[in-house]
Amino acid sequence: MKDDSESLFGELFDTPRRKVVPVLVPMPAPTAYSYAVPDGLTIEPGAIVQVPLGPRQVIGVVWDGGENTSVDPKKLREITKVFDCPPLDQDMRTFLDWVAAYTLSPPGYVARMALRAPAALDPDPMIEGLRYAGYEPERLTPARQKVLEIAADGLSWTKSGLAHASGVSTSVIDGLVKQGVFEQVFLPPPPLVAAPDPDYAESRLAGPQKEAAEEILQSLSKGGFHVSLIDGVTGSGKTEVYFEAIAETLKQGKQVLILLPEIALTANFLERFQDRFGSKPGEWHSDLATRTREKVWRQVATGEIRVVAGARSALFLPFENLGLIIVDEEHDPAFKQEDRVFYNARDMAVVRARIAGFPVVLVSATPSVESQVNCIAGRYTRIHLPTRFADAAMPDLHLIDMRRAPPERGGFLSPILLRSVGQAVERGEQALLFLNRRGYAPLTLCRVCGHRFQCPQCSSWLVEHRFRGQIQCHQCGYHEPTPNACPECGTLDHLVACGPGVERIAEEVEKHFPDARTLVLSSDIGGVKRLRLELEAIANGEADIVIGTQLVAKGHNFPLMTLVGIIDADIGLSNGDPRAAERTFQLLSQVTGRAGRTGRKSLGLLQTFQPQHPVMQAIISGDAAAFYEREILERERAQLPPFGRLVSIIVSADSRAEAEGHARGLRQAAPHESGIMILGPAEAPLALIRGRHRFRLLVHGRRNSDMQAFVRSMLERGPKERRSIQVQVDVDPQSFL
Ligand code: ADP
Ligand code: ZN
Repeated sequence: MKDDSESLFGELFDTPRRKVVPVLVPMPAPTAYSYAVPDGLTIEPGAIVQVPLGPRQVIGVVWDGGENTSVDPKKLREITKVFDCPPLDQDMRTFLDWVAAYTLSPPGYVARMALRAPAALDPDPMIEGLRYAGYEPERLTPARQKVLEIAADGLSWTKSGLAHASGVSTSVIDGLVKQGVFEQVFLPPPPLVAAPDPDYAESRLAGPQKEAAEEILQSLSKGGFHVSLIDGVTGSGKTEVYFEAIAETLKQGKQVLILLPEIALTANFLERFQDRFGSKPGEWHSDLATRTREKVWRQVATGEIRVVAGARSALFLPFENLGLIIVDEEHDPAFKQEDRVFYNARDMAVVRARIAGFPVVLVSATPSVESQVNCIAGRYTRIHLPTRFADAAMPDLHLIDMRRAPPERGGFLSPILLRSVGQAVERGEQALLFLNRRGYAPLTLCRVCGHRFQCPQCSSWLVEHRFRGQIQCHQCGYHEPTPNACPECGTLDHLVACGPGVERIAEEVEKHFPDARTLVLSSDIGGVKRLRLELEAIANGEADIVIGTQLVAKGHNFPLMTLVGIIDADIGLSNGDPRAAERTFQLLSQVTGRAGRTGRKSLGLLQTFQPQHPVMQAIISGDAAAFYEREILERERAQLPPFGRLVSIIVSADSRAEAEGHARGLRQAAPHESGIMILGPAEAPLALIRGRHRFRLLVHGRRNSDMQAFVRSMLERGPKERRSIQVQVDVDPQSFL
């Protein structure tokens, strides 16, 4: 009936056109889609909505841009629902647009990163509570008296909260409720974390930390966009210093975001934060339970959570009033996302701050070349903390020349390293042996025919995992039981493991130190909870020798650790990555920095076949400045980032010919632009992943080249993408595999 009359009116009168709004939906489309706004509803840009898309209902966000008058609203589908949550503000929308344009990603995919917790869009249900209604109970027992004293202020309580506060059982309260002494009220659910108190613990800065903090506080009080880089060795008090910046921002009534790599593992950090501010920050990372994630999302949006400590994706949380971003370990490759939307959270943090006009503090013991160059150019302010706090000395670092002091046959630990491990254990201290390779051996081959075990779907060797009795592909996860015969020649028991992984080092250690408590720590342990426990156990001295991958390198504080041995300092030096030297320097500094954090004399030993290599020399001389100077000159000479710009394009397809053909087509479609050139297509070093053949193009431009325009035009004019072909664009690539 109703429908009929409406269409009748539509014909009789010229009813006002329904409003049409652009909505970004999670689709790889270059622009927003148009949707009709149901009658009687006004919808502002930024509103989070549910819309029909094909047969599904999806979450989208109303975008900017005027009404699209070229479409007939009658032909459009209507917005189904507007969620009851704060809209994404103008700065956030500008930021998301900026990220999409810079990374050459569909804006809908970028917007989706801000909407990662769909159920959070509706408010949490209210919880039942009680409020004193002003009546006296019939009989005033001592227990009832206590309750009334507490509740007399007329504030709302939960039943259990009131019982607990008055020290009575809930049945006492039930009795009072029955008599009508309390009225029922509904309370908003409690915040996930209490508000941090900037004055909870006193600031305790000493020496150069004070000056550093003052410099940062000055830029905070000036307000507006500003980038500082706190550069100081591990243990110099960088965290203490940026805690002051956080306190100041909280006093200004604004929210703070701390980005940390491997936040899930740094329980230690959360406790330190609590000691300073009286409560923990909100946590954000992929290991949170869905329900918790949703709560964090919502409470960040409503402003209930004041400080978030999170992994890179926290950058896309819809803060109500963000006033500071800290990027700790700013050099860390984990800030780069290499999936769908390829972005570097450190760089995008700076963009978000510039758009909204607030400061950013980057923090590192080994800052990236990019950030150092920004300091030299005066774009960022460098704040230097030259020494470790108090009596904690840096470890004494030495190279072990593996050509002169080789391990015994079949081993990987040089006699010098073994002796030092023995001494540390004897003193009741801990040793860390670092090798960035999971499993037992990176390669297995047949001694008779030379067959190498390779993944059937990837161009990578299968890694033996002896604890699990498997050989595994670290690219795609393919695995099979460790064979005992060669599939090629059929010979039994002639397979040989080549090279070491952490499990193999553990075997060697156990042979030499059968009585020591040895612990292997890698992501194979499985589960963040388990890892956190193991890390705690190490900090409590429950292991003598720890053999670990880079998981142990990040931010942990192990008081008893006085020896760090690097099994293979040369790994990563020759992998064709323009940042290979920088990365190796950073990783080795970070790992050796685990030693001697509490004043004991400590030692770092690096096994290398290239003792003369500039990275090795820089590490033992402790002259980071000279290393960076040289590295920056090299980059400038080769016009590599940040002096030149790179965009990497990976074309993958089911067949090699298709991938190569499409990549060639893209190259031919490239516009001519002085200053920009294309390398490739060439088969990628990882030529095959999950059965997909990969070809790479590398676009190299000048610092001021418009790389995005160039690549966009190349993609538009190039061969059309077919279903079987995938093109991944990576602006400012970190990985060259
Ligand atoms: P970084 O972040 O540079 O590695 P931290 O801030 O973690 O350094 O400081 C290293 C250690 O020294 C921590 O255990 C910290 O508690 C302690 N520390 C640093 N500065 C001070 C200070 N001013 N007073 C007391 N302890 C400090
Ligand atoms: Zn594989």
